Amino acid sequence: MRVYLLVVFIVLGIVPLTFFSYILLTTYEEKAISNRKAELENQGYMLSNMLYSRGYLTTGEDTEVDSEVSRISDIYRGRIIIVNNSLNIVKDTYSLEEGKYLISEDVIKCLQGTGTPPSFHDRKTHYIRLTYPITYDDNKEIMGAIVMNISTKDIQSIRDSMEQRVLLFAIILGVLIVAFSIYFTGVLTKPLTSVVNSIDRITDGYMNEGETIKGYNEIEKISDSFNHMINRMQKLENSRQEFVSNVSHELKTPITSIKVLADSLLMQEDTPIELYREFLLDITDEIERENKIINDLLSLVKLDKTAGDMNITPININELLDLILKRLTPIAKKQNIELIYESFRPVIAEVDEVKLSLAISNLIENAIKYNTADGWVRVSLNADHKYFFVKVSDSGIGIPLEAQDYIFERFYRVDKARSRETGGTGLGLAITKNAIQMHRGAIKVYSKEGEGTTFNVRIPLNYIV
Ligand code: ADP
Repeated sequence: MRVYLLVVFIVLGIVPLTFFSYILLTTYEEKAISNRKAELENQGYMLSNMLYSRGYLTTGEDTEVDSEVSRISDIYRGRIIIVNNSLNIVKDTYSLEEGKYLISEDVIKCLQGTGTPPSFHDRKTHYIRLTYPITYDDNKEIMGAIVMNISTKDIQSIRDSMEQRVLLFAIILGVLIVAFSIYFTGVLTKPLTSVVNSIDRITDGYMNEGETIKGYNEIEKISDSFNHMINRMQKLENSRQEFVSNVSHELKTPITSIKVLADSLLMQEDTPIELYREFLLDITDEIERENKIINDLLSLVKLDKTAGDMNITPININELLDLILKRLTPIAKKQNIELIYESFRPVIAEVDEVKLSLAISNLIENAIKYNTADGWVRVSLNADHKYFFVKVSDSGIGIPLEAQDYIFERFYRVDKARSRETGGTGLGLAITKNAIQMHRGAIKVYSKEGEGTTFNVRIPLNYIV
């Protein structure tokens, strides 16, 4: 790309330069030649009047005319021939052809009086030939012709020196254009090269910490998008690593407990059967916990998939909530917690039934788990023309303000010991949030420590693809 840009810049810079140099030189030359012709016409006019009035064509002698003719031929470094209307040469400043006849196309045309005096410019030998008719002012009668062969070497030498200067200027400008092109194409392609290098590195599996690239204007936009993408990839990579280490830690904990329990049983001799029973019960609890973590992880992984996995159908949300509450009533009863359900209107919405009930169940289970003895949990359903709203409030222990930002993160628990006691994995709210986001919905938490917690869920009635 750099070579391509370089060629474009050089061609765009140098071609017009050459073209303008050529135009400048030829324009100068044409203008100088036409000026010279005009001067010659003036001299021809004056000379023609003089020749006529002095009757030079008949006498062929007049010192004043002779000196004027040689003066003009000296000034213009040329040869002047005067011919009468019988094509007889009356005067030749080179004194070579006097008395002879000059039969040329230009002289004949001139004697016939066909408009402008005929002229000819020979570029190779650098001379102009102008043939001027001899008349007297307005008199139409043409008595002869003055043939002026004039050198244009002076014009040529000025043109040559101009050409040298223009060439020098063009060379300097050309060098500047090439230098500028090399620099500018370097500046222009550097960010692109960085992008390509970064992409290659990332493709190979390496990513530098804080990897960014810099560029100009449009390229800056690409750079910005690229940096944005890299940032996002870095965040994703960090959270993936954190997730993997959390998962291994969480999965290892029950296994370590099982190993400790089993080892202590094996190490003791004559262990009473009651102790066996007690330890085996603990081992079963740990296995159940391991099982729950694995199940929660599987739910989360399923929810991490794309929206294409959504199984959307119109669902009666009132009935769905009824069903969830019925299923959770025994757990609530066990802790003497009152479950209250309020529905303000019938709601039918396009949702994935399994995912939505998982999300709402997690919220109500938490409201029961993190409650106080004889407390209550209130679930209410409402809707407007666009959304339906599910509110889950409890009279429980509440969530400290500083923890409220983190509760939706995977494996985050405010009180690890309490969560463990109640069989929490720290994945419930992460699953809930994912499921709600897949419905293009939103969830908000309001809580005060020691007073209770409220989760507000808002989901569109019609699924947005
Ligand atoms: P867990 O499996 O530990 O319950 P969650 O992701 O469901 O994990 O919840 C994360 C943490 O948020 C819990 O450990 C708990 O400390 C806090 N939390 C969630 N819901 C409530 C609630 N209704 N009242 C008080 N604390 C709650």
